[in-house]
Amino acid sequence: MSKSPKVLSVLGMPVHVMTNYPGWLLERLQQGRGTHVITLNAEMTIQAERNGSLAQVIQNAELVIPDGAGVVLYLRWLLWQKVQRCPGIELAEKLLRELGQKQTGAKVFFYGGAPEVAAKAAEFCQQQISGLNIVGTHSGYHSQEEEEKLRQTLTQSQPQLIFVGLGVPRQELWIAQNRHLCPQAVWIGVGGSFDIWSGTKNRAPAWLGNNNLEWLYRLYQEPWRWRRMLALPEFAVKAFVYHLTARSVMS
Ligand code: UDP
Repeated sequence: MSKSPKVLSVLGMPVHVMTNYPGWLLERLQQGRGTHVITLNAEMTIQAERNGSLAQVIQNAELVIPDGAGVVLYLRWLLWQKVQRCPGIELAEKLLRELGQKQTGAKVFFYGGAPEVAAKAAEFCQQQISGLNIVGTHSGYHSQEEEEKLRQTLTQSQPQLIFVGLGVPRQELWIAQNRHLCPQAVWIGVGGSFDIWSGTKNRAPAWLGNNNLEWLYRLYQEPWRWRRMLALPEFAVKAFVYHLTARSVMS
């Protein structure tokens, strides 16, 4: 069995550090060990400060990966930790590729996004990765009645890998409330990944991501996010103050 990851702390939120996230998750998936994966960035950390339910879900998750540049720079510059950024969308893609290559037949489900987006994303992934077994998709905009049907579908089909793209914090809270339906599954909140895979939106060019500037591209593509992005400077100030006053290495 793979060893437990090292746990660091960013503003009181855990971050698990290891070299091979997809390998660790694949092992848990094959062993049927239910897992909730959180893709932590600065914005989510600030939201968690104001939203106790979100903070609790993050603290209870089996895996919290350093998704955002702010989180990674904090761990590198203030805690002197060697940490590689692991964007959630890339982790999701790697997992899908590994499942396809290994021909495990593991059942995958996509939930979230505007009508047709999850279905288009699934079609794209299925075309790109042979051997992938996406058993169902569901849009993220629906009535309570439809949601009940979705719960029944998940209970009956028992997917082993479930991507939920409802945005933060909706997707994290939804997973926490519903993971008992498929207790052996790996659940990941994937934000806008279905929008990217379906071709509805573009991801930032790699050179921006490599220079920790992916947020700038998102702001250019979706200028209405400016208010949400005020969380970034707030995170920088709070992280510095927190670092001066708290013990940051948890284990
Ligand atoms: N979304 C959804 N249902 C909702 C609200 C949002 O399915 O009630 C979807 C939306 O269509 C988009 C995703 O959630 O695909 C949110 O993407 P975003 O990139 O904003 O995620 P975040 O930055 O919060 O991770």
